[in-house]
Amino acid sequence: MSEITHPSQLPAVDKLLLQKPMEALRQSYGLDACTRAVREVLAQTRSRVLAGEAITATPADLIALAEQQLKKQFAPRLRPVFNLTGTVLHTNLGRALLPQAAIDAVVQAMSAPANLEYDLEDGSRGDRDDLVESLICELTGAEAATIVNNNAAAVLLVLSTLALNKEVIVSRGELVEIGGAFRIPDVMTRAGAKLVEVGTTNRTHEKDYAGAITENTAALMKVHCSNYAISGFTKSVSDADVAGISHEKGLPMIVDLGSGTLIDMRDWGLPYEVTVRETVESGADIVTFSGDKLLGGPQAGIIVGKKELIAQIKKNPLKRALRVGKITMAALEPTLRLYLNPETLAQELTTLRLFTRKAADMQAQAEQLLAPLQAALGANFVVEVAPMTSQIGSGALPVESLPSFGLKIYPASGKQAGRQLNQLESRFRALPRPVIGRLRDDAYWLDLRCLEAFAQAEFVQQFPQLTSA
Ligand SMILES: *Cc1c(COP(=O)(O)O)cnc(C)c1O
Repeated sequence: MSEITHPSQLPAVDKLLLQKPMEALRQSYGLDACTRAVREVLAQTRSRVLAGEAITATPADLIALAEQQLKKQFAPRLRPVFNLTGTVLHTNLGRALLPQAAIDAVVQAMSAPANLEYDLEDGSRGDRDDLVESLICELTGAEAATIVNNNAAAVLLVLSTLALNKEVIVSRGELVEIGGAFRIPDVMTRAGAKLVEVGTTNRTHEKDYAGAITENTAALMKVHCSNYAISGFTKSVSDADVAGISHEKGLPMIVDLGSGTLIDMRDWGLPYEVTVRETVESGADIVTFSGDKLLGGPQAGIIVGKKELIAQIKKNPLKRALRVGKITMAALEPTLRLYLNPETLAQELTTLRLFTRKAADMQAQAEQLLAPLQAALGANFVVEVAPMTSQIGSGALPVESLPSFGLKIYPASGKQAGRQLNQLESRFRALPRPVIGRLRDDAYWLDLRCLEAFAQAEFVQQFPQLTSA
């Protein structure tokens, strides 16, 4: 077949499907998908012919087009990327990377039946929370614990259990919005609780809390300012003091800790963040936090606190709707167990390993990558080794940053620099394993904190494709 000038010259669908090269495609993708792809290609070609385009296409060409379509259709949408944004716990890139022990356990749990809700001692029905509850209590000092889908679910479930149709007192300065449309006031409404705001944006006093308590009050609540900081003329009431005011009136005190760390991060040379244990010790009756933020595990919401309150929470029918699956449980348990040995934690817990990477280590890595990257990008761009600062991310410690190293890339000529940078950014994003960096201050920044040595070869292998992209 040479030039096609009229649609009638195109082969029929059935005829194309019977061609030899189609066999392999039928094996891989099945007849239905192949038929759809061939129809689609023929329809597209037909419109091009009708539009007057000169087309030369053999049946093999048309099948090649169909193959492209099939490949695209069957390619996974959720793909691995390189997170070189400098934000370790990047919510849009899936937050915490799991430790190897968790990965192994997840693979096991997915491929074999497991005692998720089965008591192996006496052969009776169990509760999935039992798998991790004692471990969490040991690590936090809490009396009891229960697990739900994420921290947003944890807050919803706690409020719906303890404050349905009643009032919860929160400081104005803590009415936070977390990315992805989690707003404390909205969650509270959905939980059926009534928000009573006290204090002002920058200052809240003990008397504000005490003065707002009525017979309709169900609880006092503190929300950790995880993704912002209020500075200047400020005053907030400590967890211990809010707990004191609550307990004087026989009310529970709830803390939404957000990130929630199980360790004193200063012991690893990192900025201080209040721990779950400290919050429990300050007198909080219920504390909620995420599994995939500082904890470094799977997406989950962990609720810890007083035994009788946790028992009430577990009985709420919403718990059934918000519970986690076996894959989450499988990942959570070994992650928590790593905390039993602080000596190996920074090595085994992936997130902590990334937080504690030495700047000199990343600098050496940047120096190795400099020449090959410069060669791939050519003379239009300048690549430099540069110090930069990484963020912990996911709202943890919003104002603290970690000294880091990486590569800074900028156009050699100032002409249309903005457009050149945007194109560069999309070239990195178009790689087989997309690279996500950061555009800032007239440059494209690749922070190497999250590029561990074992992944470096795969990263470098893609450089030649930057040239052609
Ligand atoms: C992150 C965060 C949440 C939401 O947690 P998810 O696990 O993402 O649902 C709620 N409250 C605070 C204070 C947070 O930082």
